[in-house]
Amino acid sequence: MDDLKVVDPEIAEVIDAELSRQRNKLELIASENIVSSAVMAAQGSVLTNKYAEGYPGKRYYGGCEHVDVIEQLAIDRAKKLFGAEYANVQPHSGAQANMAVFFALLTPGDTVMGLNLTDGGHLTHGSPVNMSGKYFKIVPYGVSEGSEQLDYDEIQRIANECKPKLIVAGASAYARVLDFPRLAEIAHSVGAYLMVDIAHIAGLVATGLHPSPIPYADVVTTTTHKTLRGPRGGLILCKDAEFGKQFNKAIFPGIQGGPLMHVIAAKAVAFKEALSPEFKEYAQQIIKNASALAKTLTEKGFRIVSGGTDNHLMLVDLTNKNITGKVAQNVLDEVGITANKNTIPFEKLSPFVTSGIRLGSPALTTRGFKEEDMVEVGNIIALALDNPEDEAAKAQARERVAALCKKYPLYE
Ligand code: PLP
Repeated sequence: MDDLKVVDPEIAEVIDAELSRQRNKLELIASENIVSSAVMAAQGSVLTNKYAEGYPGKRYYGGCEHVDVIEQLAIDRAKKLFGAEYANVQPHSGAQANMAVFFALLTPGDTVMGLNLTDGGHLTHGSPVNMSGKYFKIVPYGVSEGSEQLDYDEIQRIANECKPKLIVAGASAYARVLDFPRLAEIAHSVGAYLMVDIAHIAGLVATGLHPSPIPYADVVTTTTHKTLRGPRGGLILCKDAEFGKQFNKAIFPGIQGGPLMHVIAAKAVAFKEALSPEFKEYAQQIIKNASALAKTLTEKGFRIVSGGTDNHLMLVDLTNKNITGKVAQNVLDEVGITANKNTIPFEKLSPFVTSGIRLGSPALTTRGFKEEDMVEVGNIIALALDNPEDEAAKAQARERVAALCKKYPLYE
């Protein structure tokens, strides 16, 4: 950091400001987390200098003897962590991992089923503004109106009708357990592949706190930076090493060039951390914390979509509070809480406004928050959102946020 301050004081200053934001605000964005300094050290290392197109032992460049060891460690740890026979640690991000699977298994124009964006799906699962939606015929599925949970009979019906080549499961805003055996049964009954994107729940899957899709899905993709608490990046896994080989070609030379060896080293460190007993305790606490927050908000009159959460996140429907997701996000930001507006199932407002917010517990759990702290977080959220124009209430909320930040210092 000292060199950076000398060479580029402008950037150094902004990084300092971001550190201070992370220290002094409560991070409730469900897809974010706080990595260890070991993960950061690996990512900020000399490995950023190295080109290593290809795979361990089969590179297109010389001087790869050390990065080969690193990538092989990352692969072996990922396989152990998820009980998979195949792992590719090179995807630069979750979107790249998904794109590689599409590139490997499909031909443009093929039919793909994916969860609707408004019901919790991700852009890469078939949104018209994404490559997945532009190059493939997307038939979306959704949650049912009553339970706001996946309706597997309906998914089967749609699959029978449209005969997809691929069914994509997994979500960015779905708080309930996914039934992977059932999804595999549906996909395979119509001759489709099943891809499960566990980006959000990877840390819970790795620790056995959410059922694993590995035995059922043809291929599993994930990010490494959400509940898994690694560097920003992607990962492809599958149970069958032979079937997996095609994803190596799809990543390189298919859709990527040289792998980011510094990020792969940081992934290896994160996988080692995730294999520890402490990480399992951490993942258990993530779930307890999300439940405590959902319960507190419910008691304060907020409606949680689907009635609660089984994992690290919840969607809060703000309709009965007469406040939009957009306004709520701004009000929370004013009091020191970072969250994102989010569409809810059967959304009536535009995605830029929305009726909901998405809240998640992974980052606060990393800071050390326990259930009683999450009750306080829920009470602060309620105070702010029930009084969005009351300056005294918001000042009180800010003070209570500051007290929590002081109780759990970050990167000290
Ligand atoms: N898949 C899911 C389910 C996600 O929630 C996300 C990101 O939020 C992605 C894929 C994309 O990951 P990335 O932002 O690393 O490309």
